[in-house]
Amino acid sequence: MSNLGSVDRPLRVAIIGSGPSGFYAAAALFKLEIKVQVDMFDRLPTPYGLVRYGVAPDHPKIKNVIKVYEKDALMPGFAFFGNVNVGENISINELKRFYDAIIIATGAETDKKLGIEGEDLVGSHASTELVGWYNGHPDFQDLRFDFSHEVAVVIGQGNVAMDVCRILLKTVDELKNTDITQNALEVLASSKIREVHCYGRRGPVQAAFTPIEIREFGELTDCYPVINSEDLNVNESSLKELADPVRKKNFEILKELAKMSGEGKKRKLVLHFCKSPIEISGKGRVQGVMFEKNQLSGEPNAQKVRGTGVKESIECGIVFRSVGYQGVLVKGLPFEPNAGIIPNQKGRIMDFEQVFTGLYAVGWIKRGATGIIGTNKADSDESVHSLVEDLAHLIPCVEPSSEAVMQLLKSREVRVVSFADWKKIDAAEIERGKKLGKSREKFVRISGMLSAL
Ligand code: NAP
Repeated sequence: MSNLGSVDRPLRVAIIGSGPSGFYAAAALFKLEIKVQVDMFDRLPTPYGLVRYGVAPDHPKIKNVIKVYEKDALMPGFAFFGNVNVGENISINELKRFYDAIIIATGAETDKKLGIEGEDLVGSHASTELVGWYNGHPDFQDLRFDFSHEVAVVIGQGNVAMDVCRILLKTVDELKNTDITQNALEVLASSKIREVHCYGRRGPVQAAFTPIEIREFGELTDCYPVINSEDLNVNESSLKELADPVRKKNFEILKELAKMSGEGKKRKLVLHFCKSPIEISGKGRVQGVMFEKNQLSGEPNAQKVRGTGVKESIECGIVFRSVGYQGVLVKGLPFEPNAGIIPNQKGRIMDFEQVFTGLYAVGWIKRGATGIIGTNKADSDESVHSLVEDLAHLIPCVEPSSEAVMQLLKSREVRVVSFADWKKIDAAEIERGKKLGKSREKFVRISGMLSAL
């Protein structure tokens, strides 16, 4: 009988990834009536993952959730191991020596592919790139976006697409006090983009955005929405799908937006429905996109999309593919490449019938890139519940010491960033922001973050 979770021998858990699902897992562990120690690893020196690098800079309220995560980060028994790349600096197998259980919370780090010709042309970008760039993610700072053409195309109608359209269409005044990077602000200030065309393969009732996000396009300073009212004449099945309150609200907002005039405004968002991209075209770089018109048919909530053979194309200078995120392989763990997730049952990592004892997944790497930030709470609770059910069967680690992990990383010349270190980086960023009249000015290079220490 193991004594894991006792005062003498707390349960030791490593969480890999410090985004929302990682923090909700930590919170669920600290709520247990056993003694736990949680070490949270992140390959970047900064915590909060998607909240810092995914949430749009002009949506600061969504970032308030950080205050909740910080409470758990300050709990006795919590340590942040920032700037540690699990898989490079230390392997999952090595971590097993120091932890009784490991929770993978690495999210969905890459974009889904469209699989059409021209997808890789210069000027065709995944939305993940633009989002990472304007949010100051160190991986995306060397990218260059050509905003010298008046027309941009965004493929996909989820909330990420809405973020991208909005950032491209807002004025500098609407962005300048946010935590968008100064470099992104300056580049966007000289952007020539005046029209963003956003394409959905299904109809207005099935669009993946949510009401708050679509409503904003009626409230922008210098941009108006354009919706073809014929697109709002939807079929019988789609009308029945309006029983869903989110769809109903979206549809009502779209009808309002369709009535708006663009008088006095220089920029526009054009929403296109029932059109699938079939080719991104251009000589050496993006010059246009070809779409095929679709028809929806079938029972409500099970309608199929069928190409009609009717094609149309649009000239543009840049394309953002915004068709969803997916997870990437974590070295040493099973992976389902099509879904971009780690195979699991209620969070227990498994490969076919084989359960990986003591290994769990949470968040987007567990279920795919769906839902809002809060969705991850119930998801992480479920995985922690599985861990608790397994407690008696966990194999106690042989060296239950965070100090030993630190020593090992030091011997490998890894500069581990603690939570106290992060708070120094945080304070320095807020200070840098004050000088620019912004909520913060992020360090966009790891070297800059470390130099603040
Ligand atoms: P998403 O919500 O899954 O939207 C993906 C979009 O791409 C959908 O319109 C989808 O159409 C379309 N699509 C997928 N494959 C396609 C293809 N082969 N051809 C054409 N279109 C294709 O993904 P997301 O926008 O990346 O967002 C990820 C998650 O983060 C979502 O749950 C989202 O709500 C959340 N998020 C929330 C916020 C917020 O709360 N403010 C902000 C950003 C993201 P179908 O619907 O037809 O599949």
